[in-house]
Amino acid sequence: MIINHTLFYIVFAAAMLFFAYSCYVKFGLVALGKPDNRGGSLKNMFRDAIGQTRVIRGPFGINHAMLFWSFLILVILNAEFLINGLIPALSFGLLPSWLYALLMNIFDMVSVLVLITVAFAMARKLFFPPYPEARSFEAFAILGMIGTLMIAFFFMHGAEIAMGHAKSASIVSGIIANGLAGASPEYMESFYAYSWWVHAVVLLVFMNYLPYSKHMHVITALPNVYFRAKSKPIIPKREKFEDGNTYGAGKADEFSWKDLLDSFTCTECGRCQDNCPANLTDKPLNPRTLIHTIKDNLNANGKGLKTGDIKEPLIGNSDYSVAKDTIWSCLTCAACMTACPVFIEHAPKIIKMRRKLVEMDADFPEELLNLFENLEQRSNPWGIAPSDRTKWCSLLDLKEYSDDTEYLFYVGCAGSFDSRSKQISLALTQIMDAAGISYGILGKDELCCGDSARRLGNEYLFEQMANQNVELFKSKGVRKIITQCPHCFTTLKNDYKQFGIELEVIHHSELISKLIKDGRLRLNQTDEKIVFHDSCYLGRHNDVYDAPRDVITGTGATVLEMERNHDKSFCCGAGGGRMWMEEDLGTRINVDRVNQALETSPDSICVSCPYCMTMFEDGLKDVGKEDIRVHDIAELTAMRLTK
Ligand code: SF4
Ligand code: SF4
Repeated sequence: MIINHTLFYIVFAAAMLFFAYSCYVKFGLVALGKPDNRGGSLKNMFRDAIGQTRVIRGPFGINHAMLFWSFLILVILNAEFLINGLIPALSFGLLPSWLYALLMNIFDMVSVLVLITVAFAMARKLFFPPYPEARSFEAFAILGMIGTLMIAFFFMHGAEIAMGHAKSASIVSGIIANGLAGASPEYMESFYAYSWWVHAVVLLVFMNYLPYSKHMHVITALPNVYFRAKSKPIIPKREKFEDGNTYGAGKADEFSWKDLLDSFTCTECGRCQDNCPANLTDKPLNPRTLIHTIKDNLNANGKGLKTGDIKEPLIGNSDYSVAKDTIWSCLTCAACMTACPVFIEHAPKIIKMRRKLVEMDADFPEELLNLFENLEQRSNPWGIAPSDRTKWCSLLDLKEYSDDTEYLFYVGCAGSFDSRSKQISLALTQIMDAAGISYGILGKDELCCGDSARRLGNEYLFEQMANQNVELFKSKGVRKIITQCPHCFTTLKNDYKQFGIELEVIHHSELISKLIKDGRLRLNQTDEKIVFHDSCYLGRHNDVYDAPRDVITGTGATVLEMERNHDKSFCCGAGGGRMWMEEDLGTRINVDRVNQALETSPDSICVSCPYCMTMFEDGLKDVGKEDIRVHDIAELTAMRLTK
């Protein structure tokens, strides 16, 4: 049996050197990113990466998980193979016979499993690709290499058994050994040597191909999940507004290192695009290609980013750039991030690019100019006189928030100024009065929370608004807040922590559901069938799914679910500041969502967000179904109050 070990030393050394160089280059590019002090979590890595929690949830997830877990087991086999190639005296042959036999049978079985998963993956790529470009040469090349490695192992080990060099036979390799039974010793040796070299070369080529392919995720997925965001929702980082600073991301190295690691970790599985409402309504935004483009831009510019020799702008119209229309199409709904098996963070990258456009270039869609001016000058998106903020409750005798009230009812701009949403505010006061909740409002002193400014990239304006609100809350001693708007809810609860205040913020769905459970509200019962729409900033961003459903069932109604529900919900079209923008590309998101709701044949539709209310009512008008009523959960409850 002739294995030229000297030749293998040379091949191995060359392969390892090239692999080390490739990793140095790629991780060197990641290191160009801005600092991001995240800290890691082994628990997250073991549960989500090694445990494949998210992978399993998607189509063909079990197949990929099987392949991954098999890969982990076969790392042991391949490590032994390489060590034995370098130091022939070291091999599994040194193990006790029983352990050797056990290991070899495990490797046999796992290799069969890998061949099956590879066959399924190939069939999927051929016949049911998640998107047409997934049927690529690269995908088949990688699968082909994995399959070849398994077959070479069977041949190699089968020949060892046939030649009597193995300590014991194993099931699958034993079949190969039986096939070689009548062959001459020279033939068996050659058969072994050829299989051995095929295994060695394919293994080393596979390893070196990884950094240059989408399979780089084999190397980066574990660290990427280790460093994944620990908090939910992912809150955009603050900027340091100082002379000479730049804001947002206008070049690849203005992203953080984690953003750049994300770009090398994309598996191109396409799950994000399958859940992205912008992509599904033909907007020029595909979260998969967005991440891919950031990687391509980084690769194309390389070290030139540091020297200023930038060949491809990050934001622009080339194949290596992200188009402005892409950046403005995002709803920051987090559907992509929730679906991504490797926890890539798409929306924060988009917000960083928006910041660059808004803060550095004053380059944003025309309609946002009015919005920003209104927020800045009148602290509401419509530019209505702040003195009108309390008109909605002019006939009520509501208390001003003071030390002796438990909760601040933060009404929000929609609840204060929008004629439809004012009805939700009134309904909520009815409920709180019926339950004897101690609450007060800020009246004319209330200010906009700044949600839209932040999601749209106007961080400077958001900072001003947040600071004003924090000062106001502190001066009034506010600690507990009730709000009917998921956008106010998430901003006050999560974003404001960055501004030095920790507030207990309760969405009205949580409050009402608790009041019903505690028997503090008596409601007439109904047998209606009501379809519920999860708002992105209540559900996906803050994991509040049960409370609004509990409110609906508390009225006796049956909750109908759309196909896209809970964390797979489909944005109404208003998130990420899109509420204030024209939707002139693709089809209308709210019409799509309304049609999804109508497919359930509901008696009525229920929402828990004033923006969703607007989008649903507009959508129903567009499809000629105004006879279907949309209620907020507060209205649903208030109309059935018996006391
Ligand atoms: S946040 Fe929503 S709209 Fe934006 S890319 Fe992700 S899925 Fe698409
Ligand atoms: S970003 Fe995540 S979900 Fe989207 S294609 Fe890449 S790995 Fe898949």
